Amino acid sequence: MHIEQASKQELKDLLADLYEEYDKLAELKLALDLTRGKPGAEQVALSDALDGILAGDFRAADGSDVRNYGGIDGLPEAKALFGSVLGTSPEETLVGGNSSLSLMYQVIDFAMNEGLRGEDSAWALNDTVKFLCPVPGYDRHFSICEYMHIEMLAVPMLDSGPDMDQAEAMVKADPDIKGIWCVPRFGNPTGSVYSDDTVERIARLPQIASDNFLVLWDNAYAVHSLYDDAPELASIAGYCRKHDTMDGVFQFGSTSKITFAGAGVAFIGSSERNLSTLKAHLAFQTIGPDKVNQLRHVRLLKDPETLAAHMAKHAALIRPRFEAVLEVLAKELGDTGMGEWTEPKGGYFISFDTRPGLAQEVVDLAGNIGVKLTPAGATFPYGRDEANRNIRLAPTFPSLEDVRASAKAFTVCVKLATVKQELA
Ligand code: PLP
Repeated sequence: MHIEQASKQELKDLLADLYEEYDKLAELKLALDLTRGKPGAEQVALSDALDGILAGDFRAADGSDVRNYGGIDGLPEAKALFGSVLGTSPEETLVGGNSSLSLMYQVIDFAMNEGLRGEDSAWALNDTVKFLCPVPGYDRHFSICEYMHIEMLAVPMLDSGPDMDQAEAMVKADPDIKGIWCVPRFGNPTGSVYSDDTVERIARLPQIASDNFLVLWDNAYAVHSLYDDAPELASIAGYCRKHDTMDGVFQFGSTSKITFAGAGVAFIGSSERNLSTLKAHLAFQTIGPDKVNQLRHVRLLKDPETLAAHMAKHAALIRPRFEAVLEVLAKELGDTGMGEWTEPKGGYFISFDTRPGLAQEVVDLAGNIGVKLTPAGATFPYGRDEANRNIRLAPTFPSLEDVRASAKAFTVCVKLATVKQELA
């Protein structure tokens, strides 16, 4: 039944049924959690061979001993492997520690306080520094901005990626805009993949934006497809070469959701010029990254083909969880007008939009019966979703059974909130 076609009496009857269903769920004392965008236990176990894989052979391909200092930009074979993920040459790739988020922080901190092109280029010399933030987006990107007093300007996400007409108009009009966040493939939380045209237009943004503008290209889900025919992402490095804008783009990635979350390796792709400037800056912080872990990763993941085969095993584990959520959403909410959601072909999230004004209530209703959902607003800068609609669902971590139970309980909460609103 579509909510807008229901009579008042039908709605009242439905509300009574929903309260009954909700009360029964409450009695079950559920302890479910759809908030955690992290790999499940079986997924991390796919990389257990990392432990002991070196078997006493600590020599890198060039014969150097990875147990010792040296090589601030990472092992050459790691640069080659992870450069292949980002579409950058080994010279355009830096492999660091365990977290891409910390590399993003370091790049922004450097651009802000020291300047990528010398001290006159430091963003902090401006009274105001602003970033474009496609929404909904990744809360930790927004937290970095908030922490660094970077003003965030929301840009809507379309199916093709950020609304580029709007993004281009904004950077042309406002020289305080110094960056844009992008999660270009299987974005967090929408799962959308930027179209070729969007990738090219983003690669050209540094040409039309003010000086020292940076694209922060967080390709966290670069190889995380759930289906063989999932959409590919055009190479931003390719377009940057075409338009000579490599200096304006920093790409990031990590193996957090390939091997061990928090114990993998993270990498940057950018121009040789940017990397050499950044290396000089990093040299004040570290003598070099953990090359032992980098070598472990190279031995496990070897080459793009082996990496793809490894990712197919992840997909086999999490695809049923995504499909379970989508099945329940379609069965319970399809054609009801009570919500819209994405059907990602990869990544870690499904993005759900309630009718305007209901996200917070749905999260609260779910929380009260033991189903934890990501806080409403978390996917927007400053935690403010003006339409109060978006909820991020993360199905990878719980068991399949729990994912299904959570999704079912979630739909009861969506229905309850929507019918109440319609009757109000
Ligand atoms: N970027 C995005 C878009 C993410 O969703 C996540 C984790 O959820 C990260 C970065 C974190 O990456 P890392 O573990 O490499 O710091």
